[in-house]
Amino acid sequence: MKTQTILLKNRPEGKPKLSDFEFTTEDSIETISSGEMLLETAYVSVDPYLRGRMSDAKSYVPPFELNKPIHSGVVAKVIDSKNDKFSEGDYVSGMLDWKTQQISKVEDLLKVDASKAPLSAYLGILGMTGLTAYCGLTQIGKPQAGETLVVSGAAGAVGSIVGQIGKILGLRVIGIAGTDEKIDMLKSKFGFDAGINYNTTDNMKTAIAEAAPDGVDIYFDNVGGPISDAIFFSINKFARIINCGAISVYNNTELPKGLSVQPFLVKNSALMQGFIVSNYVEKFPEAMKQLSEWLAEGKLTYTETIVDGFDNIPKAFIDLFEGKNKGKMIVKI
Ligand code: NDP
Repeated sequence: MKTQTILLKNRPEGKPKLSDFEFTTEDSIETISSGEMLLETAYVSVDPYLRGRMSDAKSYVPPFELNKPIHSGVVAKVIDSKNDKFSEGDYVSGMLDWKTQQISKVEDLLKVDASKAPLSAYLGILGMTGLTAYCGLTQIGKPQAGETLVVSGAAGAVGSIVGQIGKILGLRVIGIAGTDEKIDMLKSKFGFDAGINYNTTDNMKTAIAEAAPDGVDIYFDNVGGPISDAIFFSINKFARIINCGAISVYNNTELPKGLSVQPFLVKNSALMQGFIVSNYVEKFPEAMKQLSEWLAEGKLTYTETIVDGFDNIPKAFIDLFEGKNKGKMIVKI
């Protein structure tokens, strides 16, 4: 057996291309040293934020190095262990390389329990995605029952959970997504009150005003750009805007020319705050407990787009920018 690895070959210009990635093959790892484990990759998470790490730009995480393996959230099986904490047959999750097999020391790996939830869920609702939705909405959004929440990227991994948490907490929830099928899913599967397809709506400002007749108290922003600009015309006094992501501008090669939001924020005494999930580590135990409980009680559900095969990791990642996923995009190895 050989081990396959995916390297970052080029820093993408605009939208990433398959040629920005390179596959290499080496002989399989035969021996491990004391304290190490040999891991076989089972599921790989592809995430929009990885696009930022592919550019050579200052951010909250360092850029990936050229000609080095890309890494992201991975669930892997322990196939050999010389470490007391983990045994052969265990499954772990953590930030690992895009490799079919790799040696790991234990730091930062979590044991995951396949009997409690499907393994892929540890990359979604019971992983960074769920933590992002819960911490962003509760810590910055500070929701109060009866308020109106708008979520962009609503049919994706984070957005679909944000909307459901909003409903559990007694909010009116409006989702924005890119196809009618996704809008139907938001309402029928996830219980959103209303949805707006930004691709078929001529006037987002009017559509938001109609869907939120009492104005918008919380905006959970996953996409940025013109879709988000339209929200500012409907925000209420003391609105909270959670700036979680901006996928619509991640591939821009020029600085976007958007709305000047400052007058809207001033007039409404509104708060707009950048959110990074890793700033809320102390909240993770509470978040995991709550998400697991809601999941077990059937109050929360989730959907996944599972792509098969290690070779398809780059394509699955690129497809995020085409909206090909519903819920969490995951590659099964
Ligand atoms: P998603 O599952 O939401 O996948 C991305 C979705 O974005 C696509 O399905 C697509 O849906 C939508 N999209 C793609 N291009 C555009 C565009 N040009 N305009 C509008 N929508 C677009 O990804 P995640 O849930 O993993 O991430 C959502 C956001 O949250 C991202 O911006 C990500 O970077 C951010 N994030 C931030 C974290 C943090 O700590 N700050 C942590 C995790 C995620 P559609 O068909 O509706 O267009």
